[in-house]
Amino acid sequence: MSRIFSGIQPSGELHVGNYLGAVRNWVSLQGEYEAFFCVVNYHAITLPYAAADLRLRTREMAIGLLAAGVDPDRCTLFVQSQVPEHAELAWIFNTLTPLGELERQTQFKEKSARQEQVMAGLLNYPVLQAADILLYLADLVPVGEDQIQHLELSRVIARNWNSRFSPDEPFFPEPKPRLTPTRRLVGLDGKGKMSKSIGNTIGIMESPDEIWGKLRTAITDPARKTKNDPGEPDDCPVIYPLHRAFSPPETVKLVEENCRGAKWGCVECKRVLHENMMAELAPVRERAAELDANDAKVTQILDAGAEKARAVSSRTIAEVKERMGLPLAR
Ligand code: SF4
Repeated sequence: MSRIFSGIQPSGELHVGNYLGAVRNWVSLQGEYEAFFCVVNYHAITLPYAAADLRLRTREMAIGLLAAGVDPDRCTLFVQSQVPEHAELAWIFNTLTPLGELERQTQFKEKSARQEQVMAGLLNYPVLQAADILLYLADLVPVGEDQIQHLELSRVIARNWNSRFSPDEPFFPEPKPRLTPTRRLVGLDGKGKMSKSIGNTIGIMESPDEIWGKLRTAITDPARKTKNDPGEPDDCPVIYPLHRAFSPPETVKLVEENCRGAKWGCVECKRVLHENMMAELAPVRERAAELDANDAKVTQILDAGAEKARAVSSRTIAEVKERMGLPLAR
């Protein structure tokens, strides 16, 4: 069975963008592959943050993943900082990564442009990402298109390490991308990607009324000024993609016909979407509330996940150190 690794930042409550872009995909992959899923809190500290807030966001994200169907009996779910080998391998990989490769990463350029002072951790973020993946000798990484460049760097790092320390037979696989089927969702303002920091998201734990409030005011095709103006679903940046993600195919077809033929108004279209979203999200919300009320259970799941992850990561790091002439800790 091939092995996959994927991580998610502890941004707090899951929103529809990362639910559709990553987590729903994880749930379907966990039976197909040997899967390692990680809440990457070491990545989260590359930008300024408050400790208490990060602790809370990490827990909320873990609860969100479990509630959304990530099943600890069918995959390994853990929090990155509970597995120290991630940081250890990242340091080792730092010594094999050319500075120029890091400086030309698009995400680094974008994020560093928004900081007054740029910390080395932000530059080295993709090195830690390479360590996350390669620690589990993962062959495949479910990613969105915006992560392809980082994954390419992981392949370069694997190649560099193999050519120096395992020249006869590669120890690290060169991980390949497995593109997520849902394209990146546009935020409710229709301007950029759905992102909690921009405040244009729909949280999957929000109440039905809160979600309706957001759908009701979301922008639609500007050509539909009145109910009688025909529209084009592809020009409707938020509601139509959500229908495609949550509504059955026959409803998506109806949306296309009714929009192009001006057979219904946008409010009606949004009501149908709301019903379909609630049918999927209400049970997730209920499971999250149960987990939230059972702190000991969440702790036990995450501790067990970290132990399972360490069973693999400690073997990898032992092999790496052995080949590099670095004595192991006793
Ligand atoms: Fe969007 Fe539906 Fe209105 Fe068409 S009818 S513009 S798909 S909300």
